[in-house]
Amino acid sequence: MRIVVTGAAGFLGSHLCDALLAEGHDVVGVDNFVTGSAGNLEHMARDSRFGFVEHDICEPFDVGAFDFLFQFASPASPIDYIEHGVETLKVGSVGNFNCLEYARRYNAGFLLASTSECYGDPLEHPQRETYWGNVNPIGPRSVYDEAKRFAEASTMAFFRYHGVNTRIVRIFNTYGPRLQVNDGRVISNLMKQALLGEDMTIYGDGKQTRSFCYVADEVEGILRLSRTEEHFPTNIGNPKEFTILECAELVKEVTGSSSSIRFEPMPQDDPKQRKPDISKAKSLLGWEPRVSLEEGLRMSLPYFSDCLAALRAG
Ligand code: NAD
Ligand code: UDP
Repeated sequence: MRIVVTGAAGFLGSHLCDALLAEGHDVVGVDNFVTGSAGNLEHMARDSRFGFVEHDICEPFDVGAFDFLFQFASPASPIDYIEHGVETLKVGSVGNFNCLEYARRYNAGFLLASTSECYGDPLEHPQRETYWGNVNPIGPRSVYDEAKRFAEASTMAFFRYHGVNTRIVRIFNTYGPRLQVNDGRVISNLMKQALLGEDMTIYGDGKQTRSFCYVADEVEGILRLSRTEEHFPTNIGNPKEFTILECAELVKEVTGSSSSIRFEPMPQDDPKQRKPDISKAKSLLGWEPRVSLEEGLRMSLPYFSDCLAALRAG
């Protein structure tokens, strides 16, 4: 197949390209590098089946006929989407529309990378796909949450009104090699701080929870979903839930660090708990994650160590 991946220079997009190339597909990556990096694509440049187009998907585009589009373009970490608030709203609305139109033009399949943030600060726990969420529509996180909710609504509309063969994955916190080291997400911050021997920052009392999925598990779930005819959203994430304090302890253990913990104020509207109900993914896809947080952190350690060595070397 000829497959288009938007957001290909990012963390998840680049891993997805690797997996698709390994399966023998031709892949065209599209990215404007707002949060991604050319370094994530370097190893693919030698592969004749990989092509890349630098482009902002908020402008219409057409890189020729294709079979399937994975729509992964969007700033994704809280510090990135708060810094690029307007661009984030635009890519989830205008950018996603352009991708849907492009898929419609060539009668191609489409998969939207949505997010557990659609559930906001959830009142239902764990979160099933049927839960409508608890989102502050005007708070600082709304540029991301509402963009993704609008992207989901647009995707469902293109399926219902135009018959585009769409899918929607709700991705829960995913980590692994190529997570940007300075993106402010909890795993990148804690790994960096632990390796540098700096204080590990915990926002609030650290009792808020997240459920972390290793990137290889996430990509496998997404690929399986792309091969179904399921049009409604599907959660893909690891249901093992950790408090942020437990996560910090695990990072300390894996890195052998003697860093102390420093408590800082909790950001506004930070979800207090998050854990996917993956019953649907299990029954629909026969999928469940295999890598524990401890194993995943150990597998990510060489990457974070290399990044910090490069930073130190200037
Ligand atoms: P990332 O920032 O590493 O990657 C996003 C990529 O999209 C970057 O390369 C960026 O340059 C590109 N991009 C952004 N706006 C663009 C535009 N207008 N035109 C072209 N390219 C653009 O983030 P990620 O973690 O890899 O996330 C990828 C996708 O998965 C995002 O849509 C994100 O919302 C979603 N997601 C990720 C997670 C996670 O835990 N990593 C969780 C939920 C959802
Ligand atoms: N967090 C933290 N210390 C940090 C970075 C994040 O305690 O240095 C917390 C953050 O407040 C949130 C959780 O860790 O409760 C996950 O944050 P992240 O930004 O990784 O992702 P989110 O799930 O909030 O989008």
